Amino acid sequence: MIHLEHSPLGGSGAHRFMTCAGSFLLHRHQLENDEFENIESEFASRGTAAHELAARAIIENTEPFEYLGEDFGGYLVGWPGGISLDATHVYFNECLGIVDRQGFGRVLVEETIHLPDLHPLLRGTVDFGYYNAIALWLRDYKNGEGIGVAAGGNRQLLYYAFLMIMADEHLRNLPRDFPCDLGIVQPNFYGIFEEPDTWVTTIGYVLDWGHNELLPRMNALMRAQDIDESDFVPGSHCQFCPVLLDCPKMQQAFREYVEGSEDFVLMLTDEELDRYYSQREYARRFMNALEATVHARLIGGAKIPSAKLVEKKTNRVWKPGAQAALTAAFGDKAFTPREIKSPAQIEKLSSRGKELALEFGYKPESVGLSVAPISDPRPAAKPKTNAAVFEAHAQRPEELGF
Ligand code: SF4
Repeated sequence: MIHLEHSPLGGSGAHRFMTCAGSFLLHRHQLENDEFENIESEFASRGTAAHELAARAIIENTEPFEYLGEDFGGYLVGWPGGISLDATHVYFNECLGIVDRQGFGRVLVEETIHLPDLHPLLRGTVDFGYYNAIALWLRDYKNGEGIGVAAGGNRQLLYYAFLMIMADEHLRNLPRDFPCDLGIVQPNFYGIFEEPDTWVTTIGYVLDWGHNELLPRMNALMRAQDIDESDFVPGSHCQFCPVLLDCPKMQQAFREYVEGSEDFVLMLTDEELDRYYSQREYARRFMNALEATVHARLIGGAKIPSAKLVEKKTNRVWKPGAQAALTAAFGDKAFTPREIKSPAQIEKLSSRGKELALEFGYKPESVGLSVAPISDPRPAAKPKTNAAVFEAHAQRPEELGF
């Protein structure tokens, strides 16, 4: 029997299990056989700590900076390598802004909702929810900086909104066109000056999605017994998959990379290159999961012959009194010259910094082309062939006097 605290059908996994049945079936199998190993990445635990900081500031009616230097889940607030105060503040301001603008209403902060009467595994934690007589607002905070998450049609947001509505008799009985404003706040990816990505839908849409898509999918997954290779459907939802290391698709992608050699790659046709290139992200994810799992096992005392724990590299630092001694010995040469910050760094200083970066910052001419996956948001660029270069410098016949 699955223990609910490890629910493989929780809200945070909605994007994944709605697409990839294999992730749920394998996860359930591991949980039922006591084989599941929960290894939280450093990014995930820092994200949890940032959620805790924001929740505490909202609940205690304080500001995140008031916790400067405090420890949340092993991360110091505002410290390098700790919790970013800028990012947490953006989320905090977004939530309090809703409350301030909308006035009296009901607020939910980091509230876990479990509705076993609808489905035993229907459960999720709403980061921030709020409703009054005008609308319902829901905000999900993402601390990650690697992959941006959009709000429109987002199944994790729909799952949380469905929970919020179904748990509250008042919301359940509102008209179907009652507005639901759902949003993702991800300042570490989109930038601290960007507005959160939001999507306005209705209670009717959320309820239809919950009853006609979510619950049938959850029920079908619960009924399914056998696991087939076709159940595994990779995509962007693989990022936080709890069974990534055991996934046959990821293992296959990794194996193909390991077995390939430089000469072998040179001989591939364009079609074969395409197949390998499209798998490269899966192989990279497998590598990351491999590193994290080996690290966790070694910390736990396991013996893995090909790996060992070593001290992280640290740079030497100066003892007190070094500055005076170095200045006496070398004068200005003891110091690195002052260097102006980049437009991106200046932007982070303040809104004035953003204005100045806009006025004085520019992108120099392209220094060349690099390869990116087709999902990359930048537009595709064309290589400059010799013909194109000559064409740019070609003179028309009339210019040559013909
Ligand atoms: S890693 Fe595998 S099991 Fe997990 S979501 Fe991706 S394809 Fe599915």
